[in-house]
Amino acid sequence: MTRAIRIHAQGGPEALRFEAVEVGAPGPGEVRLRHTAIGLNFIDVYHRSGLYPPPQPLPFVPGSEGVGIVEAVGEGIADIKVGDRVGYAGPTGAYSEERIITAERLVPVPDGIDDAIAASVLLKGLTARYLLRQTYVVTPQTVLLFHAAAGGVGSIACQWAAALGATVIGTAGSAQKAARAHTLGCDHVINYREEDFVQRVTDITDGAKCDVVYDSVGKDTFIGSLDCLKPRGMLVSFGNSSGAVPPFEMNLLQRKGSLYATRPTLGHYVAKRSELLDAAADLFEMILSGKVRIDAPERFPLADAAKAQTALETRRTQGSVVLIPHH
Ligand code: NDP
Repeated sequence: MTRAIRIHAQGGPEALRFEAVEVGAPGPGEVRLRHTAIGLNFIDVYHRSGLYPPPQPLPFVPGSEGVGIVEAVGEGIADIKVGDRVGYAGPTGAYSEERIITAERLVPVPDGIDDAIAASVLLKGLTARYLLRQTYVVTPQTVLLFHAAAGGVGSIACQWAAALGATVIGTAGSAQKAARAHTLGCDHVINYREEDFVQRVTDITDGAKCDVVYDSVGKDTFIGSLDCLKPRGMLVSFGNSSGAVPPFEMNLLQRKGSLYATRPTLGHYVAKRSELLDAAADLFEMILSGKVRIDAPERFPLADAAKAQTALETRRTQGSVVLIPHH
């Protein structure tokens, strides 16, 4: 027996129950992984609250990012062995001391990147990468707006966008977070709880506005984000931290300037194992070369996952947060 957080019915933070679970032996193509650090992500909140349907039949173990040591391997696995230090972003089941996971989704963690850092960057850093390098190809000519710049994904993405040479405008919800966003390479930071971000973007760009807006806040910022775009600019709506974007008329995109809008998700960008390995290698290289600096994440014991989620959903966190299974 081992212990995990399980959700028996979606709801508030009290839905997260720390209890004994059976893990069993890995089947063909699977490994048994002992977690050393688990990443906390906003999608964990959606899976708990019911904004997203349960990712597995109830009761399920939430969490989509983790790092650990391989304890046992099933049949038919060539490139992963017992004792390897590996991580993943994707299959739910991370809020656990140990789990079974398909080997296809694991990536090796290089020396020089510790477990907590790796568990805080796999899902968020791979997201930052596809958003900036694939969904919209950012270049030194790009002027972009990134909402929640001091958050988990935002902290990585703003540094990466600055490294690509773009002009980076970030939003943040407090003076402290705004100061952090500046240190992350934002050329301009807007405290969107106090300032009208559309007006500020218009002023900063002398009326030219942005090529691309990355919006994970969702409901509260969606219309304003469209108003921050140049004609033929692209809205990348990739999250719902304030709630889901309500249905809108397609013609709105025409009226606001022949805009593009996309609603991407990481899984579709790393579906093939080769894509996952290439993206992870690129992310780790950005970190090891110092182009993207990762601060030590805030830590909570796994048993306190409810406290950690409450901090995340009430905007009290900066950067990344990890859950530590063994205390
Ligand atoms: P963050 O650390 O960025 O936390 C969310 C931040 O959003 C808050 O800290 C807060 O920053 C801001 N925010 C604005 N309004 C609200 C609100 N009403 N309630 C809560 N937060 C609000 O989280 P993550 O790094 O884990 O994720 C960032 C976003 O990216 C999430 O929306 C997530 O779902 C999305 N995401 C999408 C992926 C994809 O592939 N589509 C993959 C990974 C993440 P501030 O106080 O500065 O406003």
